[in-house]
Amino acid sequence: MRYHKPTSFTDASAIAAAAPGTLRFLAGGTDVLVQMRAGMVQPDDLIDLKHIPDVGEIRQTADGGWRIGIAVPGVVLGAHEGLKRDWPGVVEGMNLVGSTQVQGRATLAGNLCNGSPAADSVPGMIAAGARVEVTGPKGSREIAVEQIPAGPGKTNLTKGELISAILLPPRGKNGGDAYLRFIPRTEMDIAVVGCAVNLRLDVDKIIEARVALGAVAPTVILSEAAARAIIGTTLDASALQALTSAAEAGAKPISDKRGTAEFRTEVVGVLARRAAKIAYDRAKGQGK
Ligand SMILES: Cc1cc2nc3c(=O)[nH]c(=O)nc-3n(C[C@H](O)[C@H](O)[C@H](O)COP(=O)(O)OP(=O)(O)OC[C@H]3O[C@@H](n4cnc5c(N)ncnc54)[C@H](O)[C@@H]3O)c2cc1C
Repeated sequence: MRYHKPTSFTDASAIAAAAPGTLRFLAGGTDVLVQMRAGMVQPDDLIDLKHIPDVGEIRQTADGGWRIGIAVPGVVLGAHEGLKRDWPGVVEGMNLVGSTQVQGRATLAGNLCNGSPAADSVPGMIAAGARVEVTGPKGSREIAVEQIPAGPGKTNLTKGELISAILLPPRGKNGGDAYLRFIPRTEMDIAVVGCAVNLRLDVDKIIEARVALGAVAPTVILSEAAARAIIGTTLDASALQALTSAAEAGAKPISDKRGTAEFRTEVVGVLARRAAKIAYDRAKGQGK
């Protein structure tokens, strides 16, 4: 195995573009090193991204959004007051990943590019309208987070491309977001179902919403029907019922040892309802 430690994204991309065999990037390593030790993957080239300047930085952008470096671990996100204030749902998704030890290394980009439909930080990023900066052989481009996953263990990144930053939009006024997951125990398990809701209010009425459903399809789903169910409402009982039905209808889960398709479908409705209530309270400045 060839181990590389480039000092720029352009160099990382060039190495990746020229790599003839199995390639992995190394961010926190909490997926890739575990997979290597388990014999699930044996990269011919392993490109360590942590030697590129500023990959550990979190910066507020001129428009009031956030630029998060691709090696920022969960523990640093969880201690960042500005991000917790603006995007608590994104931070709580990432902070559900693994344990304190895992949090010390695990990154948003690694969680996204590992390609798990149950990845805990991905619904929150999608609901937030987050984008990623992708650097490749033809330069850099920005794309929406929901366009990255292609199916379990797969992304839509092409040869030589990698994520060079995570971009969160400006929070703006009267907004709130939240992420909830169901696991059969309290810690250290993979989401059986996850759901993130992000919304904005005009006084009491929801004027914008995005709802993302995790672990109920081959990729995390952005459910426009679920968002439509609550836009224009005050999240009253009938809006919550419409949201529940839309989330259930959008779910296309499998049955496996973690839960049946019927169970997942029911739980996604429950989580959508609960996450929407938390996001609504946060938008009113009443949530934690
Ligand atoms: C004990 C344990 C518990 C866990 N619990 C959870 C959990 O509760 N929820 C959950 O969602 N996950 C969980 N995970 C999985 C893992 O911790 C997360 O997916 C983590 O966010 C991966 O980030 P990383 O930086 O460690 O990725 P890495 O292992 O460094 O990389 C993961 C993948 O992403 C690719 N990659 C990394 N960075 C980039 C980039 N910038 N551009 C393109 N590709 C890139 C790599 O090639 C690799 O395929 C757990 C893992 C362990 C070991």
